[in-house]
Amino acid sequence: MRKPLVAGNWKLNGSKSSVQALVEGLLGGIGDVSNAEVVVCPPYIFIPDVAQQIGAAAIAWGSQDVAKEDSGAYTGEISVAMLKDYGCTYAIVGHSERRSLFGDTSQIVAEKFAAAIKGGVRPILCVGELLEEREAGKTESVVEEQLKAVVDHCGIESFNDAVIAYEPVWAIGTGKTASPQQAQDVHAFIRSWIAARSADVAAKIQILYGGSVKGANAAELFSQEDIDGGLIGGASLDANEFLTICKAAG
Ligand code: PEP
Repeated sequence: MRKPLVAGNWKLNGSKSSVQALVEGLLGGIGDVSNAEVVVCPPYIFIPDVAQQIGAAAIAWGSQDVAKEDSGAYTGEISVAMLKDYGCTYAIVGHSERRSLFGDTSQIVAEKFAAAIKGGVRPILCVGELLEEREAGKTESVVEEQLKAVVDHCGIESFNDAVIAYEPVWAIGTGKTASPQQAQDVHAFIRSWIAARSADVAAKIQILYGGSVKGANAAELFSQEDIDGGLIGGASLDANEFLTICKAAG
């Protein structure tokens, strides 16, 4: 039985005070989330404050990205070890915004994934197709290429310590959600692709859906057989909305 997981990606949003209020709101309602694991991914600068405010509460935190290198002359980067020092347990890698705006190729994503695994932080590997790729019938081949780059670099067993997020790029921040069936079809494809390499890994890995998930559509998406929770952008900035989504996951 896979435990549902809901992760909030705050992206480039918030201020010291708004983040404090957001965490306060989450702490106030987290006791009503009975089954799902809840993760927040703040901008790096807010991590020490967020980690301290969360304390021992049942909310984990992760980073929105991570350096593939351990240390050295890489201006602006943050390493896995630095994040671990503050108690980080998850790192998003391969988010479509990193792929499209910051040049993260599938090979770079694989190296970031490897760095996270090596450092004991669970990567949340994002995969997903553009609208034109979906319309050209290329969804599965795009997702396969993104998965294969990681498996070729790290091996299928590395997925024992990772989470996958299927995020159709056309649904991210657009208000357009994949229908539960569209999402389920790709999740089932991902799980069967992994199962062809290891049935055991496939049965255990959590596959999250991301793309305009809200309180109003979360329960239907999460009821699909191969959807094990969500990666949430915009709706994770509102404590009540995010908690509603977390409750829908369990
Ligand atoms: C995301 O950026 O990972 C995401 C799913 O964003 P949104 O929920 O805003 O579509």
